[in-house]
Amino acid sequence: MPDPRIQYIRAGNEPAVFKAKWVIKDPWTILENAGIAVAGGRITAVLDTVPSGPSVTDCGPGILMPPLVNAHMHLELSALAHRLPLGKGFEPWVKALLTARDSLGASALIRAARHAVQALPGQGTGLVGEVSTLGLTRSLLTDQGMAGVWFQEYLGTGYPAPDLAADFPLSGSAAGHAPHTTSPDLLKYLKNRTQKAGLVFSIHVAESDAEMRFIKGNNRSWHDFLIQRGIDPKDWPVGNKTPVTYLKDLGILGPHTLAVHLLQVLDTDLDLLADTQTGICLCPRSNQNLHNRIPDIPALLKRHLRPALGTDSLASCASLSLFDEMAFVRHLCPEVSPADIFAMATKNGASALGLADRFGTLSPGKQSEFIYLDTGVSSRNQVLEKVICYGTC
Ligand SMILES: [Zn+2]
Repeated sequence: MPDPRIQYIRAGNEPAVFKAKWVIKDPWTILENAGIAVAGGRITAVLDTVPSGPSVTDCGPGILMPPLVNAHMHLELSALAHRLPLGKGFEPWVKALLTARDSLGASALIRAARHAVQALPGQGTGLVGEVSTLGLTRSLLTDQGMAGVWFQEYLGTGYPAPDLAADFPLSGSAAGHAPHTTSPDLLKYLKNRTQKAGLVFSIHVAESDAEMRFIKGNNRSWHDFLIQRGIDPKDWPVGNKTPVTYLKDLGILGPHTLAVHLLQVLDTDLDLLADTQTGICLCPRSNQNLHNRIPDIPALLKRHLRPALGTDSLASCASLSLFDEMAFVRHLCPEVSPADIFAMATKNGASALGLADRFGTLSPGKQSEFIYLDTGVSSRNQVLEKVICYGTC
């Protein structure tokens, strides 16, 4: 059921002002009795004081804030909600996923994905990074007018022809699945293609034990699994590496790469990610469900890395709500500041998807889209805490 207290506002082209008791301009700027002026589909000004007038909409005593950004999701797995075993290890989960996905068929996957897409604005989400293996979800996002990046994901080998397009509201890009499932030549090829198109390249990195051991050069069973799938990894340059150093050696890291998960990383990996300015996205609830651990968020922040947040899919997570994801981070990482958690779900996500000029904060020039959260707060220093704890964890 949609939450009636979350209102997603897309202002029209006419000049207008929206005001509220609290306005979160960005994670570090909270205004009281303030407003947002819009015109032509963009924010034109953030107003410290709001004059009355016919074009002013008073949203109420709650909180106006930027739309949330889900920087990593798999909508086409939405039909698998509550169908897979969680807490029994990663590999049983993957095998069950493949079996269930095949047995459901495309029409059931599309139906559930469409339902999930339609629910996003009601969850406060305005920008997405959607990763699609089967290619089923691009038109669903376009039909809904959702902004973001749609990644066609590739595994195995080959030199496909991804349909790349740097468009707004929805760009088409490419993703490699992971270092242990996608050949090094294909990863380099996709990274090169997306880089030339000015697009972000996405990849799961350092998530599972199987991946860690394979890249280390110590996982014969995964090697055999790839052979069974028709992929021969004998020339892959694995051995004595972490997934992060493996990708660094392939030339995959960099500011236009979005590395997702980073559940198992060394300090030297984090230094590499910081030095190369690689984008980062974390999916803590999915990690907890599948791997019984979450990334070391304080260590990332200490290096001035700016992690985005994602939910992964309903196959490994109870909801696609960023409110829920923020609440979970707050619950498990009380030492991380509310501003940093809010930044993960807004500003950092927009930057990670290459859309910081349109989303992430309420600033002049950004899209005239925002959330109004109808919840009371009595003082400025409670606003962010209220927002990040709004969901359920
Ligand atoms: Zn994923």
